[in-house]
Amino acid sequence: MQDYFLEVQGLKKYFQAGRPGLFNRSVEQIHAVDGVDLQLKRGEVVAMVGESGCGKSTLALTLMGLEEPTAGKIAFESKDITHAGEHARKLLRQKIQMIFQDPYESLNPTQTIEEIVAEPLDVHGLTHSKAEREAKVVKALEDAGLKPAASYMYRFPHQLSGGQRQRVVIAGALVLEPLLLIADEPVSMLDVSIRAEILNLLADLRRTRQISIILITHDLGTCGYFADRIAVMYLGRIVEIGPTHEILSNPRHPYTKALLSVVPVPNPRLRKQRFILQGETPNPINLPGGCRFHPRCPVAVVQCKLTDPAYVTVGQAHRAACLLLDSNIS
Ligand code: SF4
Repeated sequence: MQDYFLEVQGLKKYFQAGRPGLFNRSVEQIHAVDGVDLQLKRGEVVAMVGESGCGKSTLALTLMGLEEPTAGKIAFESKDITHAGEHARKLLRQKIQMIFQDPYESLNPTQTIEEIVAEPLDVHGLTHSKAEREAKVVKALEDAGLKPAASYMYRFPHQLSGGQRQRVVIAGALVLEPLLLIADEPVSMLDVSIRAEILNLLADLRRTRQISIILITHDLGTCGYFADRIAVMYLGRIVEIGPTHEILSNPRHPYTKALLSVVPVPNPRLRKQRFILQGETPNPINLPGGCRFHPRCPVAVVQCKLTDPAYVTVGQAHRAACLLLDSNIS
């Protein structure tokens, strides 16, 4: 039996689109997350990849307990936390932390770096003396690469660079010694020159602290960097999941192929033919019948409009359908 510490089964999160009116009682639903299965081991990094609007950020917020699931189950350390109450959720926040995309918006500009990093300790009542509080802040800052911590603790966010601010955000998460970090596009707002530094830092934390990471990204190139597995999302579902080297070297799903074909490759000899998808992502309120990728799929056949393989077994049957057609996909 696999030793998973996070298990997600059939997770759904729907939002209401508008309110029922006097004459119109029906309310449409946005299917943001629509039946996601995912398992994670200690120290494992899984990258969730997809275009914006595919549901990956809603999935992250639902795992964090910041959105109430519509259906499905989330188990953490073998405990069902799907509808955890406020007290249980507060305890969970010590173990599951989130890093948001924008380090400028995540930090209170009126607080010093020490106050920002110490705040989670104060909220959870985790320190008993000023010295203990300071020692934990120093360790978190230095583990996040801000060394020596004393040169940063008494500054304000506007006195730091973008990369240093993102390190402060990471220190604020580390100070609680979490088991799982959910990083939502952690480098997309940063200069290209410092993206690798932040990704290296996350890779180090996973190695030294055995932290598991769910990395939310729209950039498949970023994932190859350190993810163990890649899960590709389209319209609220995982359409392909597997070990990183397999997904990058031998993608099966046409959507994964399309995403990979536009990843920049420095060596022109290794560049693949671009596989540009036609049309817009369908409206998540009016999802297409059959396979929801069929309006954009270059190898769709008639059955794809009629049968949604995901209803049989999420992921596997969908993939099987594509595998049958694999020879048609260049
Ligand atoms: Fe394309 Fe059909 Fe596979 Fe869907 S099931 S991805 S439409 S080939």
